[in-house]
Amino acid sequence: MIKENLQEKITEAYNSETFKEQGYKMIDMLSEYLANITKDTDSRVFSNKTPRQVEDIFKCTFQGDRGTEYIEIEKDLMREITPLHSPHFLGHQVSSPLPLSALSNAMMSLLNNSNCVYEMGRGAAGIERAVTKWMCKKIGYNESSDGFLTSGGTLGNLTALLSARQAKAGYDIWSEGVKSEKQLAVLVSEQSHYSVKRAAAIMGIGNNGAISVASDKNYRMDINALKEEYTKAKAQGKEVFAVVANSCSTATGTYDDLESIAEFCKENNLWLHADGAHGAAALLSDKHRGHLKGIEHADSVVWDAHKMMMLPALATGVLFKNGKMSRQTFSQNASYILDRLDDSNWYDYGLRTMECTKPFMSLNVYSTLKHYGEKFFGDYIDYVYELTKEFANFLESSEDFEIAVMPESNIICFRYINSKADLNDLQIKIREKLLDEGNFYIVKTGLRGKTYLRCTIINPYTDMSHLKALVEDIRKIAADILHPVS
Ligand SMILES: *Cc1c(COP(=O)(O)O)cnc(C)c1O
Repeated sequence: MIKENLQEKITEAYNSETFKEQGYKMIDMLSEYLANITKDTDSRVFSNKTPRQVEDIFKCTFQGDRGTEYIEIEKDLMREITPLHSPHFLGHQVSSPLPLSALSNAMMSLLNNSNCVYEMGRGAAGIERAVTKWMCKKIGYNESSDGFLTSGGTLGNLTALLSARQAKAGYDIWSEGVKSEKQLAVLVSEQSHYSVKRAAAIMGIGNNGAISVASDKNYRMDINALKEEYTKAKAQGKEVFAVVANSCSTATGTYDDLESIAEFCKENNLWLHADGAHGAAALLSDKHRGHLKGIEHADSVVWDAHKMMMLPALATGVLFKNGKMSRQTFSQNASYILDRLDDSNWYDYGLRTMECTKPFMSLNVYSTLKHYGEKFFGDYIDYVYELTKEFANFLESSEDFEIAVMPESNIICFRYINSKADLNDLQIKIREKLLDEGNFYIVKTGLRGKTYLRCTIINPYTDMSHLKALVEDIRKIAADILHPVS
């Protein structure tokens, strides 16, 4: 009896006609969103609903509500999203995905081919190989390089650093664990993403095992400071095994000087990891590739396709100059097995990643690259990087604003300065009011004791007119804050 009931429900749940019908409605809904949002600058990009209110909206008992069309449930959600396709979305480093990539993602989900082992998804293995080999080539690596995709730059940084530790620790750390008599450490820019310090803590070398290296006035890793910190760490008996460079940094979008850092690493037998989560995609731009000069010397590189390639979360390339290094991360160390780590089982990707099951994340990278061609992505980089520079020049020429540093990528930090009031406090208040009004979404960041407003110009629909409108809004808000009409 119960079984029959279930059978009926299963048949209904897997009904291909229902899938088609709801699917068409879903496409209609998303197409309408897309058609409006890329032009619309009047409606809110930020809702000032409190977390508590949102909690109440979605609270339910999950008893099953098959009276409601599936699409209606999704429509409820549409009212509470942050619309990343709005040209007024200027906040975090999250892309406005190419619509066709969402179709690949739907396909990826239904087919659910995970390529932990080849037999689970041979197409997924082949496509992941094509995408990662392409990334290696763009970096300038030779044929002995290799990599894989993983779920995000945070996990990518951890995996690359585990590899570095395995390669440089000098004993079988994977089996024996971290020994207290040998204090391992990595040197990282003070401007590093927090995931690097977190990785150090996870690896058991402690947050303090990630030694901060000061940056220069442009927020680029200071090479002299790097040398000093290294000498100091050695004198304290610490065993430094890697340097992590920003390509580019999160807060200001500044690229570290990879050539000089690589030279230093070579002299001292250190692993160089380039965190290109945000900025490695500039390798696709003829104009901006120069920022990554020397990246081919890095032992490992992390590259988020879901940041600067207009793709949805998540797809992160973890690329290794010596492909064997990517195969020894989760196995016993020691060069004696390195020889056996040849390329013959490249297709069992689970051996090299933190994940066992993982999504078929290479599909949308592959499909959109194949469809649009890599030049399209390079041109996109050119557009947003240059727009950001234009915006910086505009702010520089306005007496009431200052920028933290001339941007090298599509990230810009700036502040309103036309006041004798506490400027840090003022920026915070400006942003609060701006978000309260909801017409723009921007973030803030602290740099050397100063609070800045921060934009990531990542949506290809954003242009100078939107940025000028933002400036006007900020001026009005600042005036209201500084001279309230009571
Ligand atoms: C965004 C970012 C990360 C984290 O990547 P996720 O994909 O968000 O996990 C790491 N490093 C840098 C420099 C970043 O900008």
